[in-house]
Amino acid sequence: MNAFDQYEVWFVTGAQLLYGGDAVVAVDGHSTEMVNGLNASGKLPVKVVYKGTANSSKEVEAVFKAANNDEKCIGVITWMHTFSPAKMWIHGLQQLKKPLLHLHTQFNKEIPWDTMDMDFMNLNQSAHGDREFGHICTRMRIRRKVVVGYWQDEATQHKIAVWMRVCAAWADSQDMLIIRFGDQMNNVAVTDGDKVEAEVRMGYHVDYCPVSELMEYHDQVKDEDVKALVDEYFQLYDTDIQNDGRTNEYQTVWNAAKAELALRAILKAKGAKGFTTNFDDLGQTDGSHFDQIPGLASQRLMAEGYGFGAEGDWKSAALYRMVWVMNQGLKGGCSFLEDYTLNFDGENSAILQAHMLEVCPLIAAKKPRLEVHFLGIGIRKSQTARLVFTSKTGAGCTATVVDLGNRFRLIVNDVECIEPKPLPKLPVASALWIPQPNFEVGAGAWILAGGTHHSCFSYDLTAEYWEDYAEIAGIEMVHINKDTTTEAFKKELRMNEVYYMLNKALC
Ligand code: MN
Repeated sequence: MNAFDQYEVWFVTGAQLLYGGDAVVAVDGHSTEMVNGLNASGKLPVKVVYKGTANSSKEVEAVFKAANNDEKCIGVITWMHTFSPAKMWIHGLQQLKKPLLHLHTQFNKEIPWDTMDMDFMNLNQSAHGDREFGHICTRMRIRRKVVVGYWQDEATQHKIAVWMRVCAAWADSQDMLIIRFGDQMNNVAVTDGDKVEAEVRMGYHVDYCPVSELMEYHDQVKDEDVKALVDEYFQLYDTDIQNDGRTNEYQTVWNAAKAELALRAILKAKGAKGFTTNFDDLGQTDGSHFDQIPGLASQRLMAEGYGFGAEGDWKSAALYRMVWVMNQGLKGGCSFLEDYTLNFDGENSAILQAHMLEVCPLIAAKKPRLEVHFLGIGIRKSQTARLVFTSKTGAGCTATVVDLGNRFRLIVNDVECIEPKPLPKLPVASALWIPQPNFEVGAGAWILAGGTHHSCFSYDLTAEYWEDYAEIAGIEMVHINKDTTTEAFKKELRMNEVYYMLNKALC
């Protein structure tokens, strides 16, 4: 697990001096052992750094301020080994800007029934101290994750690991630039929204870049670099196209490689982590231009970790980048996807997920095929290259963010990817899934929640990741899962409407 080497999570143990210096020394020793144990478990993707005991208001404030200012620190875990009067946490919590996880655990697993005396109980009273700390967090409306469990248990460590991945994506998105090549697709509502509020709430910044500027990079791409990339394609993917430089298909692949190099170059130059494209804005016909949307480039850049949203969908581009970051080192893969066509088939009724071209090969069941076909959408209808594959089958989770005018809503749906039938006349990458709890209720709830036709999917992430993300960002989340009923879901949407209207701090 090296993906998050640049990050740390700090561990701060609450105590006080009431029980004497010896008690604090013991607390410190136990904490060190626990942090070492957590790091040695191999279950945590981010290194935990023990920052000592906090025994006073001044010490709490000092360590939280330091956490705010430390670039490597992406979150803080607190644990009250003994009783830690919570008024001493007020000033620190007022300052803390990093995500917070409150770990309710205990150094010893079981009560030492035969030997336990009053000294032992005073020292090991997280049952007591963690409630005091929890109270002040709740009283101060501090958003945090509360994890309850023995620190050596895998289930406890997994909950911390999930939160750590979300913290990494959160940290990454606080320095995220999304570039829009062209504008939104005209008249589309759901992919648009308030970019100012998105930056305030979720951290990422969205800029516009005229396609003419992208074409300056396109003009500078060297033929030998294109040739090298084309050769790489032929090594990586199955294809019937000949790598001989003679056919029209080869030329189309060449154009796709050139587009990829131009996009990567401008994204690097701008320090961008994601981008959007628009099929109606591909450069001037009488000047430098793309022959069609750079679909193959988008597929490959997504796999590299660049956020991507089609038709100017900057919210999906930012969300996909976060999904990719959270997914680092996990096996299943992730992609931007789009609800395209329904298949009514009783209990197996499902939604075909595809896009014109832009599906990430990280979710492919088998080695993708490189193909060239006609694409008759957009300003420049022509032959274009793409990777064709079908997704793996199995359970996953998909998510989207919509702007409701007074707030952002994160909509999460558990889905089951099933085996599609062959699509000989539809040479694009695709997945076929049944939304949980079933097609009728799942799709209905998604539509009631105002969800997009675009979403960011992963086989590895679960709703727990999204819950942690929504908590950190302070945005609404609704989760459509195996237990969802239309009646209860509608009630939740109505209750949330009131909650967010009253809770102006979150709107
Ligand atoms: Mn679309």
